[in-house]
Amino acid sequence: MTGRYGVDQLSWALLVISILISILSRILDSQVLAMLYIIPLGIVLYRMFSKDISKRYQENIKFLNKWNSIKRKINNRIQRIKGLKYYKYYKCSNCKQTLRVPRGGKGKISITCPKCQTVMIKKNPNAKDKFLCIFFLLCYFLPYLFY
Ligand SMILES: [Zn+2]
Repeated sequence: MTGRYGVDQLSWALLVISILISILSRILDSQVLAMLYIIPLGIVLYRMFSKDISKRYQENIKFLNKWNSIKRKINNRIQRIKGLKYYKYYKCSNCKQTLRVPRGGKGKISITCPKCQTVMIKKNPNAKDKFLCIFFLLCYFLPYLFY
């Protein structure tokens, strides 16, 4: 395969998508999906035997940037869910920066945004609204599962 591009991460991802579509077509018994799985497979073959190496390389870089940003977002959500017992998350009213506040105590607290120095007065987070937090975070996280 001298002078050809070969296989990269984007090719592997397209291959996985092709396999998933194929499995889904079997489960749903769909003729349309059964034909659709050929499209990503064709793209994989085209990219593998392409002589325009720099263009294929650029496509792979774009894919990796997108993929890494999705991975980072998912990891952030997981870290947030893990920390729900000890922290409450607020959003800055001015710059929308996420602010993490430790739980515990009573009364009201003042939160200063480290990014824009905006001061907000909020009710002190306690463990009582933990389940409400889990519910809202799940609502926030669920769309990413089907993304
Ligand atoms: Zn702010």
